[in-house]
Amino acid sequence: MDYKAFLTEAQSWVEISQGIRRDLHQIPEFGLHLPKTQARVRASIEGLGEIHEGRGLNSLALLIKGAHPGPTVLVRADMDALAVVEDTSEPFASTNGYMHACGHDLHMSIGIGVAHMIATHKDKLHGDVVIWFQPGEEGHGGADIMLEEGAHMISGSKPIASYGIHVFSAMLPRGIFASRPGAMMASAGDLIVKVTGSGGHGSSPWMGNDPISPMLEIANGLQAFLNKKLNAFDPVVINIGWVEAGDTHTTNVIPETASFGATVRTFSKEHDSKVRDIVPDFVDGIAKAYGVKVEVEFSAATKVLINDADAVDRVRDVTNQIYGEGRYMEMPTPMAGGEDMASIIEELGGAFVFLGAAKPGVDFTTAPVNHSNHAEFDDSVIPDGVALLTGLVFSHLGGE
Ligand SMILES: [Zn+2]
Repeated sequence: MDYKAFLTEAQSWVEISQGIRRDLHQIPEFGLHLPKTQARVRASIEGLGEIHEGRGLNSLALLIKGAHPGPTVLVRADMDALAVVEDTSEPFASTNGYMHACGHDLHMSIGIGVAHMIATHKDKLHGDVVIWFQPGEEGHGGADIMLEEGAHMISGSKPIASYGIHVFSAMLPRGIFASRPGAMMASAGDLIVKVTGSGGHGSSPWMGNDPISPMLEIANGLQAFLNKKLNAFDPVVINIGWVEAGDTHTTNVIPETASFGATVRTFSKEHDSKVRDIVPDFVDGIAKAYGVKVEVEFSAATKVLINDADAVDRVRDVTNQIYGEGRYMEMPTPMAGGEDMASIIEELGGAFVFLGAAKPGVDFTTAPVNHSNHAEFDDSVIPDGVALLTGLVFSHLGGE
């Protein structure tokens, strides 16, 4: 099968794809409830297949049945924006206080493109395709809710593989696809530690029970402690993002509580569960020595994103067939960001792929990164994403 033809075809309607992306860019919405975004996407896929809307979130799952029987493959595009006030010079910049600063507007336009391509070529398809438009990727558990709602089962059979693309405004050269077998992105969760002592006069700390000193010891000691307990070749990142204690107007008061919050990133299931096991012991030990009470809370984390090696082989092969050598790069290490595509791949298998979308003429090594209020994406890469995902679908369902 000639996957190159998918690229030529997707390029022939690049302006339509860019127009859809720019429409979506001007109506960014946050979290799980994205009614305007859902309506805009729905308008662009109406008539292509069976559309299922989510119950607990504004998702869309589109089912396109092939002309021939066969298994199902799932393609996923995420939909949500960030609570970031856009500061770019794009003529279509958002003005509503939210921003598609992570490129999910491009992902939706790519997903819509894939839907049209699959619908056009469904006579050659040996199986069915499910295309997800998923809210709540940015820490709202959207993928898990869609799995719970059974949005992956709409063809009547469990998909044999799933694929998704993520664009980057920086870090990758424009047009480069990147992935890797095994761990590709971190499990990302929060650790909150709250220490409770008893208040008192700062002149006589031995008469109260200061929570700040044990909190600082816990915060400082945590990284060193994990360093001694965990294999350094399977890294764990803990970074404290906030601390809260006392009142900045006074130095002579011992407060009752002190707390901090940290982000925790792990790259294997083993270390994800080990960190949850051993951190409470460390915290309790220090708290016991000081005679304070302590609460340790780990939030539900995204899972480690673990690509199937054979799906990554397909990504490389399809990329090479469309573009020749030189457009696919194997990432030397995983990336410390989190992504709920991890839940989809854990359930269905498959692979996640990064796509460089730095603006032409911009140095990708210094350009503002995803999530920055200055991040700008080159939406002329949309046909590249459409061609790759369509090629991947046909690599499974193209028949002979
Ligand atoms: Zn993202």
